[in-house]
Parts: sequence; structure tokens; C-alpha cells
Amino acid sequence: SFIYFSVYIVFLFFHISGRRKSVAPVELNKGNKRLSCVIKPPDMQTKRGKFLEGSRPNQKFFEMIQDFRATLEITPLSTTETIEPQRICVCVRKRPFNKQEINKKEIDVVSVPGKGALLVHEPKHKVDLTKYLDNQVFHFDYSFDETATNELVYKFTAKPLVQSIFEGGMATCFAYGQTGSGKTHTMGGDFTGKQQNSAKGIYALAAQDVFAYLHHRRYANLDLSAYVSFFEIYNGKVYDLLHKKAKLRVLEDERQQVQVVGLEEIYVTSAEEVIKMIQIGSSCRTSGQTSANANSSRSHAILQIVLRRNDRATTLYGKFSLVDLAGNERGTDVSSNDRSTLVETAEINRSLLALKECIRSLGKNSDHIPFRMSTLTKVLRDSFIGEKSRTCMIAMVSPGMTSCEYTMNTLRYADRVKELNGNSKASE
Ligand code: ADP
Ligand code: MG
Repeated sequence: SFIYFSVYIVFLFFHISGRRKSVAPVELNKGNKRLSCVIKPPDMQTKRGKFLEGSRPNQKFFEMIQDFRATLEITPLSTTETIEPQRICVCVRKRPFNKQEINKKEIDVVSVPGKGALLVHEPKHKVDLTKYLDNQVFHFDYSFDETATNELVYKFTAKPLVQSIFEGGMATCFAYGQTGSGKTHTMGGDFTGKQQNSAKGIYALAAQDVFAYLHHRRYANLDLSAYVSFFEIYNGKVYDLLHKKAKLRVLEDERQQVQVVGLEEIYVTSAEEVIKMIQIGSSCRTSGQTSANANSSRSHAILQIVLRRNDRATTLYGKFSLVDLAGNERGTDVSSNDRSTLVETAEINRSLLALKECIRSLGKNSDHIPFRMSTLTKVLRDSFIGEKSRTCMIAMVSPGMTSCEYTMNTLRYADRVKELNGNSKASE
């Protein structure tokens, strides 16, 4: 067994030295400037024992990823950093493993070294079946790892937008990602058991800040009041979550103003009242039944906090839309030949595509906003126009190897939005 052990050590040595080459910053740096800073110099890399890990499916990939991680330099988010609100901000959040995933010894293929960077270690096979990792780097405005709390995520995403609605602007914050990646957890609040803690989600945190501003000296003379509406879009139709899911019509007048006819708008005076509305609305959201995930969210939920001046309450002053988007997974669920599921999926894909195009138009300051492509973009139309519009997208990813393909889709989508953000800055 000693001989076997020595042979393994030698094998391991070649394996490591071989792999290190693939870690070369040059290869990773394809098209980005910042990654070199996340690779530690070799003398700082830590060596770990490899014989203690219990075996698991894909043990080899697990070890390869562990070794890669040892080469990453981690820069945690500094909470003292000042945050400049941007026109379009794109962030990514990785959720932690849940109990089932830990029990199944799922492999974590996502690394968050910080400074907005996120890596996916995609397990692949060469033609001769040798295993290798395709390590892909993405850069966003901020990247949150599995230890980040909703408060931290809020601080860097929606919080900087609150002020803009007091200056007469439109703000939107989207949670985007695969079903089960943490969209509702982030927006609506974390769960302790089956109970959702609505006070700890971005909805509630934003509401708290809205009331803080509302009572602030600086904005008191505007004489503003806040109203809340909460609705969902399912299969292109709008349902009022604060009025027993009444089905509502979306109309566009001759001035291209889009209206959701009859949408309940509730006057609110405190964050606690908003939290109550969130609880009422969340408990009546639509969930479709796909065999891939029995509780998958197939609808977009939109919470709007609207500001109106008391002397002319019929005109809008500012609006914050917080959107928990439907799952972005493609219709690859071949086990279902249910027509309604296929229609649902097609509708979701179309609205998410429209959303991307509309945010791109906003970034380009374009006059043409393709908002008519979907109900989602129709009802959010005024958020994509004007100097004072601000958007933040939080892309959610699951850590597991089995979600790898969906994770890559999510990151590519988010990347397209950010890509454009960079272009618009350069042209300014
Ligand atoms: P989605 O709305 O994207 O379908 P959920 O928000 O419902 O996903 O999250 C799926 C599960 O993962 C839930 O049980 C949720 O509590 C848990 N979860 C998601 N994000 C986190 C997180 N950051 N920390 C702890 N648990 C999380
Ligand atoms: Mg959800």
C-alpha cells in the first residue's frame, strides 16, 4: 500500500503541475482586466490534505475545484465603501447549499472571490474522456457570496435607488434567476422553517428607507404621501395580489401612458403597514406545477411604492418597482407534454427577453423602447425612460454542479445588461 501511496503522490504532483498551467491568468483574463488580482502568488497558496475527503460522486471534479480555489485571492466586500448610484447596476448573488444538497454531497461549482467577480468551474470531458474544468469568469458591479445577508445585498443594490424616487425618478430592482436560486428569499424575506420573515427582504428594507426619507427635513416640504400596490403577471395577464387576485386590464392611452385599470393602490404611513401588504400579497401568489419543481414560480411579482404630492395626488411623483421575476429556466422539461406548461414557458422567455431589450434601450438612452413585446415591460414602461430612471438587477445563482447550465444562462443574460452599461459609460 506504501507503493500505491507513493504512486498516487507522484500522480497527484503531475496532476497539480499540469492543472496549474490551465490556471494561468492569461487564459482566464480573456476580455477582462481585473482577474489577475484574484490569483494569489504561488508562495501564498495553501496546501491541503487530499485523503481526508470522503468520496462522493464526481470526487475528481470536487478536488480539482478545491485546488483551483486555493489559488484564489478573496477580497471581501467592504461595507464602509461609499456606493454611487448608477443608471444600471448589475449584481450577482450566490445562495448557500440547503440541507438536501449537503446530504447529497452536491459539488459547489461557483466561487466568489469578491470585487464583483464570480467564477463558474464547469466540469467537462475531453474527447479521450479526461476530466477538466472550464473556469469562466464574470464581472459585475458587485458579487455576493453565500454568506451575504439580505441587508448587505440591499445596501449595495436597492438602497442607493431610494433617494432617486424622492427626486422625481423611477427606480426598478429585479431579482432574476432560475427557480430555487433565491429570488423570493432576497425580495420577500428569508425563511425560518415555513414562515417567511417579510421584514428581512428587500421589499421591506426599501419601504423602511422610503419612510425615513419621507420624514426627513430635506423632503418634508414636498408634502408627499406613499402608496403601495402589489400585483403579479402570469401568462401575460395581470392579477391584483392586494385584491383577491382580481384580473386587471392593461391599457395604453394615446399618449402611450400605460395603465393597469383598477389596480389597488393602498395609502401607507409606515414600513409595518407595507410589510402587512407584502404578507397578504405573497400568500396568494400563483405557483404552477411543473414536474421539475412542484413549487416553481411561474409568475412575475411586482411590488410598487408610489409617491404622490398631496396637492395633486392624481399625478405620480416617483415610483419604486421591486420585481421578483419568474424562473428563467428554459423549457427543457421534456417529461411534460402539458400544453399549458409549454405556453407558460414561452411567455416567460418572451417577457425576460423583452426586459433585457428594454434595459439595454435605457442604457443606450435610446428613444425606441421595445416595451410592447410583453406585459411585464408594458407595465414598467415609464421605468425605462427619462434621465431619472435607475435600474438594478440582481442575478441569483445556485451553487450546485447540477444547476451549472442554468447558472451559466443566468450569468450570460446578466452580462449582456452589464456589457451595455460599460458601453454607455464609454460614450458619455
Ligand atoms: P426562487 O424564488 O428563486 O425560486 P427561493 O427564494 O424560494 O427561490 O429559494 C429557494 C430556497 O432556498 C428557499 O428555501 C430559500 O429559503 C433558500 N434560500 C435562498 N436563498 C438563500 C440564502 N441566501 N440563504 C439561505 N437560504 C436561501
Ligand atoms: Mg420564488
